[in-house]
Amino acid sequence: MPINELKLAKELIRRPSVTPKDAGAINLLAKNLQSLGFKCQIMNFKNIKNLYAKLGKLAPNFCFAGHTDVVPVGNLKSWSVNPFSGIVKNNKLIGRGANDMKGSIACFVAALSQFKKIKPKFKGSISLLITGDEEAVAINGTKKVIEKLKKRKEKINFCLVGEPTNLTKLGQMMKIGRRGSITGYLTVYGTQGHVAYPHQANNPAPVIIKILNQITDIKLDNGTKNFQSSNLEVVKINIKNTADNIIPAEATATFNIRFNNAHSSGSLKKKLNKIFGNVCRKNQCTFKISYMVSGEAFITTPNKTTYMIQKIIKKITKIKPKLSTTGGISDARFIRKISPCVEFGLVGKTAHMVDEMASVTDLKKLKKIYLNILLNYFK
Ligand SMILES: [Zn+2]
Repeated sequence: MPINELKLAKELIRRPSVTPKDAGAINLLAKNLQSLGFKCQIMNFKNIKNLYAKLGKLAPNFCFAGHTDVVPVGNLKSWSVNPFSGIVKNNKLIGRGANDMKGSIACFVAALSQFKKIKPKFKGSISLLITGDEEAVAINGTKKVIEKLKKRKEKINFCLVGEPTNLTKLGQMMKIGRRGSITGYLTVYGTQGHVAYPHQANNPAPVIIKILNQITDIKLDNGTKNFQSSNLEVVKINIKNTADNIIPAEATATFNIRFNNAHSSGSLKKKLNKIFGNVCRKNQCTFKISYMVSGEAFITTPNKTTYMIQKIIKKITKIKPKLSTTGGISDARFIRKISPCVEFGLVGKTAHMVDEMASVTDLKKLKKIYLNILLNYFK
């Protein structure tokens, strides 16, 4: 019996694997893959379950990557169905993870079961890298699996990540890279004092405002060949002060930059630190800055396989997908260290929302796309 994508997607949704919980999702997947002859290796890092499953030993190794963890349901009362029941209504599968991304995982496994029938003796190997830690901190997930695979010299020749890359219609968009992301946590220190005697104090509030004005005014770039322009957003400004007649001692702000391949986290830090130093010096303040880098900007220069995938998507959806680098970060930022990566999955319009859904027709089409990608890759 071939594996049915809708049935498997429903079963996966019924495992409430709200990050970092697994709730049996990885084992369910492993069971299905074992039935297709895959060797399944569960990799536990701290409280996170990950799976590396492989069929065959020969090169090339085609890998599918994804995550079984999902974001919380949010306001449960606003859902039209139980988010973990996997119910189809009006030809739409509704549930947490329907498109991000239990649906696409189910499509790939269903495609595999057909591929094995058509090509039982293909030359190469197929692997799945599935993590339970993508939606939250992503420390004990793909990042560690990749480190482990690298250590044992496991080779991946091409990786397809099943994130929901389409905004509103299946076939609109493939991702060939992602922007980088860096968050900065800035504190400016002045001198606390009485508001009536400001000459005896030094207020850090106007100083941090000057700094934030300067960094939001920088034009980082005009975009590059494959990327939109980089952007800085201030997301928090805080002054802890319990009184109205005290000049505060410190002011803090948090900002995030989504940046393209014209920058690195290092070059941005340098540029910003210079501004902080200059403004603070002029105003007799000091500052402290710390950064969190979620990922550097990267791109997989389109190759033969990229164009093959684009052609298949066009054939099945009648839409020629854009090769894009827009949107947030994904686990491709770790995988690209050992393999070229392309991302294509379902329509992500309702991802992370109430009533997350995937069209049943899209699921069928995505399975067909994945099947044809495999058939072409192992031609
Ligand atoms: Zn996702």
